[in-house]
Amino acid sequence: MVDKFSKETRSYNMSRIKSKDTKPEIIVRRYLFSKGLRFRKNDKRYPGSPDIVLPKYKTIVFVHGCFWHLHDGCKYAVMPKSNVEFWKKKLYRNKERDQHNKKELEALGWKVLTVWECELKKDKIEQTLENLYTQITSTQ
Ligand SMILES: [Zn+2]
Repeated sequence: MVDKFSKETRSYNMSRIKSKDTKPEIIVRRYLFSKGLRFRKNDKRYPGSPDIVLPKYKTIVFVHGCFWHLHDGCKYAVMPKSNVEFWKKKLYRNKERDQHNKKELEALGWKVLTVWECELKKDKIEQTLENLYTQITSTQ
């Protein structure tokens, strides 16, 4: 069991590193669009170039890869075994930047939501997307 688990995790990380796969963002955008929401993509005017900006709801959505953004307590957020110092620095810097961007956006009056890649896995995706839609459209 342990071996199987680590093997899966490793191949997951390797696929993240090799390809610039933006699929999770596309899944989320497609869902929100199908629900009638309209948004801007990768808007560089805001800290962190958010993946999805919904001006009507004053809401911003980030879709984060668990590895690159160090999802807390997530099995996909594991440090690579080699070049540990390099990766530690890089990934913690990403995480710090995320937190900083979120604070800045909230200070500007935006509601900031984060969808994690692991929440878009088969068994969770439906719940995740429904929750996201509710969170976006619910009035503060
Ligand atoms: Zn995760």
